[in-house]
Amino acid sequence: RSRQDVLTCTPWGSPIVWEGTFDPEILRQEYGRRNLTIGLTVFAVGRYLEKYLEQFLETAEEHFMVGWRVIYYVFTDRPGAVPRLGLAPGRQLQTRMVENQKRWQDISMMRMHWLSQALDTAICREVQYVFCMDVDQFFVGAFGLEALAESVTLLHSYFYRWTRSYVPYDRNPRSAAFLGPGEGDFYYHAAVFGGLCPRVKNLTESCFQAVLQDKRQGVEARWQEESHLNKYFWQHKPAKILSPEYCWDQAIRRRGDIRVARLVWAEKQYRRLRQAA
Ligand code: UDP
Ligand code: MN
Repeated sequence: RSRQDVLTCTPWGSPIVWEGTFDPEILRQEYGRRNLTIGLTVFAVGRYLEKYLEQFLETAEEHFMVGWRVIYYVFTDRPGAVPRLGLAPGRQLQTRMVENQKRWQDISMMRMHWLSQALDTAICREVQYVFCMDVDQFFVGAFGLEALAESVTLLHSYFYRWTRSYVPYDRNPRSAAFLGPGEGDFYYHAAVFGGLCPRVKNLTESCFQAVLQDKRQGVEARWQEESHLNKYFWQHKPAKILSPEYCWDQAIRRRGDIRVARLVWAEKQYRRLRQAA
């Protein structure tokens, strides 16, 4: 209610988090009595490791859930190359081995599979909430308890002001990610999602099953797993939505509605970093 200039609640009653809509001190007191550990998964496969991982982790130490127990789960094809950082007390880093893929699209989509497997066992025993993020970004502002909920997704910084007819949903009826006219709520960016472990497990497994169904049909969704995530959250409404403050592209001219940036896009170098396919 403290923000009149932006939408702060979805039609189904979930909050949309903007600067000015929460009080960090009250949240600290609320969660202070709970025994909370938060997971943060990130993939750094192939050349993405050297280019992005260190800055992602270093800035997460400065801004992500500061003061709380955090476990970073780094999924990579080269665990030995993961930078060794000094972490604040109560924070640890684990690495998980995954196999590099021939196509960058498959690395991106396979994340859903690897995550659903990892969430099944260890991660769900160690943390209550988990966030899953792209590595090609870094933190510049506080990303804290206000982001926690049973299921959390993010408004895409390019499309948050567009009506649903114009956002890049998958429009191929043969894809499991297909959304027709009148379908879809917002356009969500798959670079950040999260929630309670079992909920994220369900999301990643559903999205990967949809990817497999597309493979059997010989199609690929327009924006790979992001298209499937958008379909998933159309069918399973998220409990909380993060504003584009939580993954902002600094190349976009900021309007008055974006009062802070918390996580920002790193420079893309697709031709140099992505596997040729
Ligand atoms: N990724 C990776 N190695 C690759 C391609 C992708 O580790 O060769 C991971 C990485 O975490 C990356 C994410 O998959 O952030 C999604 O790919 P990308 O960021 O290139 O997609 P975009 O955000 O540009 O659509
Ligand atoms: Mn990315």
